[in-house]
Formats: sequence, C-alpha cells, structure tokens
Amino acid sequence: MTVGIIGAMEEEITNILEDMNVLTTKNALGLDFYLGKLNDSAHNIVLVRSGIGKVNAALCVQVLIDLFAVDAVINVGVAGAIDKRVKIGDIIISTDAVHHDFDTTALGDEPGVISRMESSVFRADDALISAAERAVEAIGFPVHKGRIASGDQFVSDPEQKDRIGRLFAPLCCEMEGAAIAHACYLNMVPFVIIRAISDNAEEGSNVNYERFFRESAVIAGRIIKTMLAQM
Ligand code: SAH
Repeated sequence: MTVGIIGAMEEEITNILEDMNVLTTKNALGLDFYLGKLNDSAHNIVLVRSGIGKVNAALCVQVLIDLFAVDAVINVGVAGAIDKRVKIGDIIISTDAVHHDFDTTALGDEPGVISRMESSVFRADDALISAAERAVEAIGFPVHKGRIASGDQFVSDPEQKDRIGRLFAPLCCEMEGAAIAHACYLNMVPFVIIRAISDNAEEGSNVNYERFFRESAVIAGRIIKTMLAQM
C-alpha cells in the first residue's frame, strides 16, 4: 500500500523524514514530495509538508491522490486542546473532523454545516484508527480518540475556545485536519489525523505553542513511525 503522510510545517515532518529512505523527491505546487520507505515498514511512503491552513492542506491531498496514487492519508501535527480532559503533550486520534469556521447561520443553517453537501462531518477510517491506537499503546502516551475541529485561525481566545467546544464538542482544534478529511471524503480515500497537543487554545496559547510545538511534533511523528512499522 502507498501511504501519504502530510504535516503542515517542517517541524512536523522532519523526524519522519530522518527515518526515511528517500528514493526520489518530486515537486508539485512548489512543495517537495518525498517518495520512499520508512525504516521497519513495508509500505511505500509519500511524505510532504503542505503548508499551514485548510486550502494548502486540501490541495496537497489532491496531489497525493492524483499524482502519487496514495491508498490512504495520515495527517500528523500539533493542535490546541479544546476538551478539558486534554493536556499539552497528549495524543489525539481523530474519529471525525469538522470545519468550525464554516458559517452560513445567517441563512438559518447550523454552524459548521456545508449546505448542499451530503455530509459536513468527515469520518476517519476504522482500520487506520485502530492502527494508530495500537501504536500509541506500544509507546504509552496519554491518548484521546474523538473529533477534531479545524479552521483558518490560531485559537487563543477563551471565548472562541468555548464556542468551538459548545458547538462541535471536539477534543482539539487545528488548521488542516478537516480540509484533509474533506478532500479524502470526496476522493473516497481513507484517512486518519494524529495530533499531539502543543497548547491550550486560550490565553497564553501563543506562549505554550512556541514552547511546546517542536516537542509535540516529534511525539506525533513517533506515533506515525510506530504505526507504519506495525501495519
Ligand atoms: N507562525 C506560526 C503559525 C503556526 S499556526 C508558525 O509558523 O509556527 C499553528 C499550527 O499548529 C497550525 O498548523 C495548526 O494546525 C496547529 N495548531 C496548534 N495549536 C493551534 C491552535 N491553538 N489553534 C489553531 N491551530 C493550532
């Protein structure tokens, strides 16, 4: 199987790249797609840094599918905690993903609902979720399984955190997951999102983020590597 692995930022992919035997690097959308194998894994890997935000992430998924024919997509990265049980350093495995910033409520629609689409909640693949759970178990990090909410904004305001929590009840928020999930849904390609928490998505989250995001990115990368070695 060929697995696409997407991180938004260099820090989210470098520790995976370090363990990769890269056979070729191809460029598309101005991005480097690393093709090869990961240590201890039988699968073909295409690793890429998409850039930050939903448009960059969705476009990158389309390239992974159209040019590199990936059979599955794994999104790796960091995120801000929304659920009170979630702490910095914890791992989140997605069960589904939603766009928390999609809003046509002025027309009577529910928040986050994309009018005229069959679904606005994009379900992750059960087999990939189980593989991620087994990897986290093998390493022993605190883990939560549930919803991820994405939007084109860094959440650092308690009111915005509260709004997202109340309306969507996600475990965490970030800026790419739902776009990746959405693109995978339209292409009928299985996905899972694996994030490590870098901040608390409220006052001080900018300071948390700067302090912890590198470390959290490495933790998330370790899960991916273990997961692929076991798959
Ligand atoms: N100038 C910063 C911008 C990072 S944006 C930089 O270049 O490092 C934050 C990134 O981490 C996004 O990719 C997003 O997916 C994730 N993230 C972590 N905490 C977040 C939060 N509280 N709100 C939204 N995204 C968050």
